Amino acid sequence: MRSEQDVIINSNMRFSLPFLLLLPLAALAQTPAYQPQTGKSGVDLGALDTNVSPCTNFYQYACGGWRAKNPTPPDQVRWARFNELAARNLDIEHDILEKASKASPGRSAVDQKIGDFYGSCMDEAGIDRKGVAPIQPLLDGIGALQSKKGLAAELAKLRLSGVSSLFAFYAGGDLKDASVNIAHLDQGGISLPDRDYYLKTDERSIDLRNKYEQHVARMFDLLAKSLNATWDSKAKAAAVLAFETALAEASMDRVLRRNPESQNHPMTAKDLPTLTPGFEWTAFFADQHTPSFTKVNVGNPDFFTKLNGTLEKSSLDDIKTYLTWRVLQNVSSALPQAFVNEDFEFFGKTLNGQRELAPRWKRCVRATDRALGDALGQKFVDVAFTGSAKAKALQLVDAIEKSMKLDIEEATWMSETTKKQAQEKLAAVSNKIGYPGKWKDYSSVAIKSDDYLGNEERASLYELNRNLNKIGKPVDKSEWGMTPPTVNAYYSPLQNNINFPAGILQPPFYTPSASDAVNLGAIGAVVGHELTHGFDDQGRKFDGAGNLRDWWTPEDAKSFETRAQCVVEEYDTFSPVDGVRLKGKLTLGENAADNGGIHLAYMALMRDLSAKAAPQAKADGFTPQQQFFLGFAQIWCQNSTDASERVRATTDPHSPGQFRTNGVLQNMKEFQEAFSCKAHDPMVSAKACRVW
Ligand SMILES: [Zn+2]
Repeated sequence: MRSEQDVIINSNMRFSLPFLLLLPLAALAQTPAYQPQTGKSGVDLGALDTNVSPCTNFYQYACGGWRAKNPTPPDQVRWARFNELAARNLDIEHDILEKASKASPGRSAVDQKIGDFYGSCMDEAGIDRKGVAPIQPLLDGIGALQSKKGLAAELAKLRLSGVSSLFAFYAGGDLKDASVNIAHLDQGGISLPDRDYYLKTDERSIDLRNKYEQHVARMFDLLAKSLNATWDSKAKAAAVLAFETALAEASMDRVLRRNPESQNHPMTAKDLPTLTPGFEWTAFFADQHTPSFTKVNVGNPDFFTKLNGTLEKSSLDDIKTYLTWRVLQNVSSALPQAFVNEDFEFFGKTLNGQRELAPRWKRCVRATDRALGDALGQKFVDVAFTGSAKAKALQLVDAIEKSMKLDIEEATWMSETTKKQAQEKLAAVSNKIGYPGKWKDYSSVAIKSDDYLGNEERASLYELNRNLNKIGKPVDKSEWGMTPPTVNAYYSPLQNNINFPAGILQPPFYTPSASDAVNLGAIGAVVGHELTHGFDDQGRKFDGAGNLRDWWTPEDAKSFETRAQCVVEEYDTFSPVDGVRLKGKLTLGENAADNGGIHLAYMALMRDLSAKAAPQAKADGFTPQQQFFLGFAQIWCQNSTDASERVRATTDPHSPGQFRTNGVLQNMKEFQEAFSCKAHDPMVSAKACRVW
């Protein structure tokens, strides 16, 4: 209900073993009118900076012109080709929603849902007029809490209204038997983007924490003013920070969590009181109408043991203060302007360097996409996704899968035993393109034109019920973890499928008029990226059925680790902003997928060229190989604020565009040959890494 960093439970993507995305889930969109100067090949000639040699800094060569013409807009923290496309998709959604929000007798049921949801969000005056009245029942519930014994029931109640706190609870695949959904409990409950923000002791981190604490105090001040109450907001903010710091201390760090085994702790529901004897689990589950279950996976058992201690040590008042804060934090976007602005001041401006709040319509289009994604999505694909894109995408996916098959066959470092298993896993990968075959039915979700918070709550409740009702049921692999307009893609290790929403199958990723070389460098590398995730440091631990199972011989696993370590050390040296280095271990899976993905696409290009009767003609002065690498680099052009790069270096498993380009190509002799680079050129790594 608030920013994308804190979706409630619209999908299990946020909580479960992450889908391996192409990009982080981040705010997208804005519309500066950049016009590409697309050459005959499809390369954007206007994006080039020919003052730089491709062998010195290929990213700058391919993107320098684009970067100069596309500064980060004031309401964004990063502006990349993805955002450019997302802005176009957002405009389409905007148009759909503006039309749907006009009440008319003939309006379809779907238009009523999305139109009134959007309209209720756009009604700023109405929202301001209501003040904090819409959250009064939530505040009253917290206020009425008489003892810690009632906490579990209160948490359940808050979850029914879309407010998450303390920890995560959801249905998802069983890591060891991915065909069935089980209950999962996991760490959670903090409001800053990572545990590090609470624990690091350098000057910048301390300063940021102080600003966060001041922000919390100001939000409590605003609440006091709205309620005509008086309290010590500073003391409340201090209590919130102390409580969240305890949760952060109990949390596992991101790098450790990349190992799926570290999150596999199956237990029975009866075991839970041994972790947290002070918490009424039975009430927590029952009050959310959770189907009965025995098996539960606890992602981080130590978190729950420590949580018990934290709850024991904290006063009831402090717990209530924390819960009130979580309400404010979760619903701030549906509260009056003063709350929205204060939330933006800290989370947008201070934390991420965003200069201006995005216009309301953008926030409301995104909110509709998050809340009723399948309803808006079906309207979107009607307008923006035509049949040929799907067929072309499938053709590309087939070609890339064929490359992977050959790549495994040719791998010199892998035994026949492991190769056989890898081939079996590859053959079992399924592909999803565009949008779901079956749309979610929101007919039970009441959407009113004058009740934005209520709409958010009911949409969130629908997703919560939908999710929890999966416990004990078979996994439905046809479901999507992204909405159709999303400019992103993912691999799901537990489902062993690659997924490409309609939103990304458009220029500059897929351009019908561009050369095959450019399209293979762009969307081909994206497909290769997702497929390689099935065999990266995380993905390789799952088998073709999606089960966490070791199918590697010890020697081959060791060879993989050695190769992966090279990538870790390489990316450890990259610095996106002064004083900050990328974390090679955090970004390993994505970097491995970037490096492997382009190889698969390049193999497809080579086959494509050798099958063509015509000689390898140049276009725009570029050979097909050069077009391929330009097509690749030009999907990664970006500008961003320094502050957001700092946040990403801590939280984002993806490297910034510069390193997604140069980090990959400096490892690749095919690139160096294509541009005739010399041994000592910066784009030629002395210690080239190669996993796939
Ligand atoms: Zn990825």
